[in-house]
Amino acid sequence: MEITQRNNLGEKISNWYVDNGRQNLPWRHSISPYRVWISEIMLQQTQVNTAIAYFDQFIDKYPDLETIKNASEDSIYALWSGLGYYRRASYIYQAKELIHNKFKGKMPNNYDELVSLPGIGRSTAGAILSIAFNKPYPILDANVKKVISRIFFKKDFDEKSFWKLSEDILDTKNIFNFQQGVMDLGSQLCSPKNPKCNLCPINTNCESNLRNEFPILLKRSIKQKKEYIEFRIIKKNHKYFMTKENDLGYWNNLWMPPVQAVNRHKSDIIHKLSHRELNISFRNSNQKPQNISGEWFDKKELAQIAIPKPIFNRLLIDG
Ligand code: SF4
Repeated sequence: MEITQRNNLGEKISNWYVDNGRQNLPWRHSISPYRVWISEIMLQQTQVNTAIAYFDQFIDKYPDLETIKNASEDSIYALWSGLGYYRRASYIYQAKELIHNKFKGKMPNNYDELVSLPGIGRSTAGAILSIAFNKPYPILDANVKKVISRIFFKKDFDEKSFWKLSEDILDTKNIFNFQQGVMDLGSQLCSPKNPKCNLCPINTNCESNLRNEFPILLKRSIKQKKEYIEFRIIKKNHKYFMTKENDLGYWNNLWMPPVQAVNRHKSDIIHKLSHRELNISFRNSNQKPQNISGEWFDKKELAQIAIPKPIFNRLLIDG
């Protein structure tokens, strides 16, 4: 495919977005570098539909860089409660500290400074630069990868060539519409099975459509390690004893009942993390451990602190 055709292809995607894009998504109006940053971090590992409520809640409390300036790490974690991949909350905390201490409270508008911030890699920097600053930088998220693999009939992901193609197809004159458009096209039309090619603005440019064969990029398979852990639910006067102390090596900084690894190979629930399969069991107790520090929370207060989702759900149904 020639470069000129690729450019034309970008324009078709931008035009399609104007009439068909999901312009009502909350991060697509009142655009600011801060809002784009928060939304992109949330969308790194979270589906759009789930991210909407979390984004609204986050922006309600911290609408801009000025209001988040003095936020504690705990308060950012609390807004992240249930969203998973909690390292992202910690990155937001660390990055906002740097933005205020090193960049005079303003989001950097150049690539090198952006990728120096925790949690911001090449694609997130590309999203901030293109969507918030109107600069022609490419993005390579899951939807863009999918669209590229289809347009160019690529069966295997190769990072270097995918970045190059993502750059080649940019509509540099309408970068905002293009970026939103290519992501929407990936999620709304270019589904893994039965893509809606008849509705797609680039169906005449798309090699997969022309061949009527649609590659699916395989996800890297990750071997999940099985772990067995037991939580001790300690309740007194309608309050639960919660601690941040644990030796798990994940879920750092989150509140939870005292927990320990167990040898028993049975569980009440199974919860999957990216590299682990957690086999979780619960046991009621009225003995607070002597050697663990923590605090007592009633159910209403539990909703205000950051707790891993499966543990929060269990406490919620506790009678
Ligand atoms: S024509 Fe079909 S396969 Fe090609 S990008 Fe569009 S929806 Fe995807």
